[in-house]
Amino acid sequence: MRTPPTDPSDELRRSPAGGQRSRSGKPITGEQVEFDAVSADEADDEELHAIILEDEDEDGTSSEAAGTITESPSTPAPAPPPVPVRQLVLIGAGHAHLQILNWWRERSIANTELTMVTAFGQVAYAGMLPSTLAGLYTPEEMLIDLPKLCERCGVRLIVDRANRFDPENRVIEFAHQPALKFDVASINIGSVPAEEPLWQSHRVLISVKPLPSFLQRFAVRFRELVEQWRMAPGPELLQIVVVGAGAAGVELALCLEQHKHELELPADVRIIDGNKTILNGFAPRTVRRVEKLLRVRGVDLSMGSPVADCDDEGVPTLVLENGERIRADLVIWAAGASPPMALHGFELPKSPRGFLSTRTTLQSIADVPVFVAGDCADLEFHAIPKAGVYAVRQAPILWQNLQNFLARRPLVEYTPQQGFLRLLSCGDGTAILDYKGFSSHSSWAWMLKDWIDRGWVKKFQVK
Ligand SMILES: Cc1cc2nc3c(=O)[nH]c(=O)nc-3n(C[C@H](O)[C@H](O)[C@H](O)COP(=O)(O)OP(=O)(O)OC[C@H]3O[C@@H](n4cnc5c(N)ncnc54)[C@H](O)[C@@H]3O)c2cc1C
Repeated sequence: MRTPPTDPSDELRRSPAGGQRSRSGKPITGEQVEFDAVSADEADDEELHAIILEDEDEDGTSSEAAGTITESPSTPAPAPPPVPVRQLVLIGAGHAHLQILNWWRERSIANTELTMVTAFGQVAYAGMLPSTLAGLYTPEEMLIDLPKLCERCGVRLIVDRANRFDPENRVIEFAHQPALKFDVASINIGSVPAEEPLWQSHRVLISVKPLPSFLQRFAVRFRELVEQWRMAPGPELLQIVVVGAGAAGVELALCLEQHKHELELPADVRIIDGNKTILNGFAPRTVRRVEKLLRVRGVDLSMGSPVADCDDEGVPTLVLENGERIRADLVIWAAGASPPMALHGFELPKSPRGFLSTRTTLQSIADVPVFVAGDCADLEFHAIPKAGVYAVRQAPILWQNLQNFLARRPLVEYTPQQGFLRLLSCGDGTAILDYKGFSSHSSWAWMLKDWIDRGWVKKFQVK
């Protein structure tokens, strides 16, 4: 493996755009051909004088399969200067970046090293998380092991939180590790539930993000409660609250209700949201169907006033904006999607909501070699929901544009799809399907969801 240059940006600036000549006298460009002096020295001088190791195809990817052997000239010319290795860095193991790892494994970009930087060594797949709570999956089934995946794909992995991003000097700073330089970077760090300062400062508020640590944080609090109740069972039911009545909150509430049922735990489940209705953006028919299901399953709704505070002295209580106080022994925070705090340290233009302002080519609107995908991007001219499916569809455009950018070719544009298939797990082997006004609550909807979700995770699981 080649050693990366100490300052890749400088090297990149010195990168020959053309004008070099191979020993056979044919013009070559720095971006097309790499000369490996060590390999050439080791080769039989009589027969092999130049070995071209990586031959970049028209699309900017390299086909490493066969080295091309050229004829020896009569007098050896001086070795051409080494072509600098470009540093491509992916920040965050979001949906778009995971796919890029697999595509890199199939066809890497010539003369480029790929590094993945991410806050956790594991990815927990959000689509399977509520069903895991309900006991329909084991935690291992929804987890992706990044060290194994990166090793299989030939990608360097740094597990740390990026908390400063300086596009001018092309430097990423971390919580613990030394800073990293890059030539081109892509950011796919997702979003976090709204009101981060509030849920960060109360132990009883368990945010769904970060996803990889959610199950563990949930289990600690849940066990505590179950033990408390078993030691001193009182007449009052335990109060489990999910904050947020979007798709994630509703799914979590239904799956938790199933979970407590199986544990025979005397608990009430309630959803709280500042909106007046659940499932904003879903077909009215689906909303009615889910409201009925929640009633049948005994999940209460407190709608129309957001949570303003949490009083965790004594019996934990949520204080709503309208002054109402709701006892809450266990709270799962799944309200909305906000920019992660780390973005404060990313010196890039932001939208009024605080996400990274991004062109339809997925390049930051600043004139810098930085791309953005998934929830952390707010696209110019499009208001798209914060959902994993968009990040999935952005991945091929992102991959194409990273290659185009490195090869100095024009970038292509991403067009968001109109609407998408939504499948909500009910935790009992059924699911609710919502697609372009059509709605169904059935076990076949669950089978479809299960098939899609397992298929997605399997692509990245290394046994
Ligand atoms: C319970 C639940 C269920 C959901 N179900 C669905 C569903 O069925 N379908 C759907 O489309 N959407 C669903 N969503 C929404 C979906 O999870 C998000 O929209 C989606 O994960 C966003 O994807 P992303 O690619 O932008 O980033 P993510 O998938 O969130 O990935 C972000 C990555 O960046 C890493 N990271 C974060 N900060 C940093 C940092 N500072 N430095 C380095 N790395 C960092 C994280 O560790 C993570 O690996 C669900 C959400 C929840 C909470």
